[in-house]
Amino acid sequence: MRGVINLGIGEPDFDAPSFVASAAEKAIKAGLGKYTPNAGVLELREEIAKKLKRENGMIVDPRRELIVTSGATQAIFAVMSCLLNPGDEVLLPTPAFPAYRYCTYLAGGVCLDVPTIESAGFAPDFEAMEKACTPRTRVMVINSPCNPTGSVLEKKHIEKAYELAASRDLVLVTDEIYEKFLYDGAVHFSAGSAEEFRDRVVTINGFAKTYGMTGWRLGYAAGPSEIISSMIRFNMYNAVCATSFVQYAGIVALKHSLAFFKPILSRYQRKRKIVCDFLSRNGWEYQEPLGAFYIFPKLPEGFRKDSANFPRKLLESKRVATIPGPSFGVGGEGHIRISYSLDESQLEKALARIEQFTK
Ligand code: PMP
Repeated sequence: MRGVINLGIGEPDFDAPSFVASAAEKAIKAGLGKYTPNAGVLELREEIAKKLKRENGMIVDPRRELIVTSGATQAIFAVMSCLLNPGDEVLLPTPAFPAYRYCTYLAGGVCLDVPTIESAGFAPDFEAMEKACTPRTRVMVINSPCNPTGSVLEKKHIEKAYELAASRDLVLVTDEIYEKFLYDGAVHFSAGSAEEFRDRVVTINGFAKTYGMTGWRLGYAAGPSEIISSMIRFNMYNAVCATSFVQYAGIVALKHSLAFFKPILSRYQRKRKIVCDFLSRNGWEYQEPLGAFYIFPKLPEGFRKDSANFPRKLLESKRVATIPGPSFGVGGEGHIRISYSLDESQLEKALARIEQFTK
């Protein structure tokens, strides 16, 4: 379709910084285009370990507890493939990023959808999660800041996740890829930072969001050495390694200051306010997102029942793309996901079109 404004997009509206792009170019010219170890270039793993210590309070051995992957998605695929036998279950607070579900299915696993508590800012319902557990449950996923709700877990939530994981002998998979997209003083807490629980936490992260590198495909996972070594062997016959010169660019990205991100975050903070103000003005119910670049409002009442089709109708009638809430699992019905990761004037235009449509 022509003339569509895309509020469906799940990627940053900025390109990789020039210091990253020139590092990749340099690596290509230097002939660094051969296979790397299945775990990734050691220098990159060392830089990631330093980053995890500096920014996340995590102690990780780069030789045994880290794998570099072709994006966070491949890390999710690898971890599910290595942890699940056919029929094993994954506890999934929903609405959730769809990759957790489909990577579980690809590994032969089963998802136990447990709706989050919307009125509590989409916090996981740990009591309901505990009840949903069976002897086949192996993994629990958390994602903060969250796609699609923008919710940010507090330390008290993570502590409950530890408790549940320990009492049911689960591995806690934590996806922290939006860690730098935080608003109104929200703080990111890394589940892998607690020494006593590190034997059951796998942390997934990547370069896609913070550095605008979605198409470069660079991510990583940190966790207990027995899980990571299994993921490394898995990777041998999956991606083999993340693209070599992209890994070298990753080293430079992590060595560089994050100052470039400050103005980016201010822009996102402004756009988030534009959407929230629009929703409030139009009487939509929503939980104010404290992170990521999404908002997951309830549709106006008359549209809720048909939330799976609302985006298609909006697209056809007004040329605005959004994502249907039900595609994020149970708890997504009656909602849509709006991404505000686009130019401010385009965002304003799209919101005006939504207003016309719903009126
Ligand atoms: N995790 C979450 C929560 C995401 O929203 C996304 C991208 N939409 C990813 C992981 C995927 O990251 P990557 O591009 O590194 O595979």
